[in-house]
Amino acid sequence: MTNSKNPETIALHAGWRKDATTNSVAVPIHQTTSFQFNDSDHAANLFSLSELGNIYSRIMNPTCDVLEQRVAALEGGVGALALASGQAASAFAIQNLCTAGDNFVASSHLYGGTYNQFKNPFSDMGIEVRFVDPADPQNFLNATDEKTRAYYGEVLPNPSFEVFPLQEVADLGRPLGIPLIVDNTAAPVICKPFDHGASVLLHSTTKFIGGHGTSIGGILVDSGKFDWEKHPERQPKLNQPDPSYGGAVWTEAVKPLGPIAYILKARVTLLRDMGGAMSPFNAFMFIQGLETLALRMREHSSNAAKVVKFLKDHNKVERVIYPSEVAQDRANKYLSGGHGALMGFEINGGRDAGKKFIDSLEMVYHVANIGDARTLAIHPATTTHSQLSESELLSAGVTPGFVRLSIGLEHIDDILADFDQALSKA
Ligand code: PLP
Repeated sequence: MTNSKNPETIALHAGWRKDATTNSVAVPIHQTTSFQFNDSDHAANLFSLSELGNIYSRIMNPTCDVLEQRVAALEGGVGALALASGQAASAFAIQNLCTAGDNFVASSHLYGGTYNQFKNPFSDMGIEVRFVDPADPQNFLNATDEKTRAYYGEVLPNPSFEVFPLQEVADLGRPLGIPLIVDNTAAPVICKPFDHGASVLLHSTTKFIGGHGTSIGGILVDSGKFDWEKHPERQPKLNQPDPSYGGAVWTEAVKPLGPIAYILKARVTLLRDMGGAMSPFNAFMFIQGLETLALRMREHSSNAAKVVKFLKDHNKVERVIYPSEVAQDRANKYLSGGHGALMGFEINGGRDAGKKFIDSLEMVYHVANIGDARTLAIHPATTTHSQLSESELLSAGVTPGFVRLSIGLEHIDDILADFDQALSKA
């Protein structure tokens, strides 16, 4: 199964054909903690990485492995690492490169949980985040110094929906040895960040990949295209002996295995040491979700485009925030096959009208989630982004009357009818 197939096909076939002993077509749930070694040499080879294979399910598991291969193939990467949540994926993405005294530059347009993770626990660990407005890519360069290890952004930043300038920022970092890491949670299939210069990406699989609101998970994907050795002083974690793994120099150690230094190190050091593994059952759930991901993204996008039109024409709506409305050029450049399910809008009457709208919804769910098959709504200023200060809210693109929507797969007439009746009461 090659990456040259289309996403619909990759999502059904990559990484698995059938079970070798039972011929099962569905991927089995390997609900086991550990794996019998064939003999002592086999065990020693696995631990020394001279042979790759299963040791213990905190570090690898065959069900998670199929999910990892499938998402890596879908994104055009060389390897992936399934994790317990999207939060674990963003933490590992940075911790794999940064240690105390280092910094990274991140877009200020981020999911509130990621923003808090970067600002608080990371600063407690001595890793400094430098938030910049991604509207001007040069801001990334201006915030860079010799200790900057990565640039970080969200492809479809939740909740501003201004499409991230992928190529522009990647091109600034590459000559300095700085990779661009992006969160592609909101734009699977419709954006291929590795085609636009990103080097590492992640998903909260909780959202569109799962697609049915049942399981929490995350995944980190390595493009295999970043030259970690070119500027060894810029990336010491990958180019200097790692005392936590017998002095391995990761860029050297992986040479017989392919360009997987970043993702292998994340697995055998961070996942080994910090935990945060995805359960095999959740991996199974995400594999089911992946099978219809492309189909769902098309339908989510099509329904969302109709909701945009409806809201724009409505006299109670002040502003609609959707990639085609707020970042048309970048949406055309980086998104294909639709602009996704997520949008926001402001009602005339601000905060109170927004709250009334949410409380009047009858079918649409009021939940702190996105990417479900059902249509969801939330008021970020009082929920997902409530720990942010007024100025942080504004720099994240959250105004007091902003309502965020994740448009689902119900019939469009029913979605519009619920919005219409709720707007009439707001
Ligand atoms: N990234 C984005 C864009 C998200 O919206 C979220 C959660 O809402 C996360 C990451 C964190 O994912 P999780 O809830 O799986 O930890």
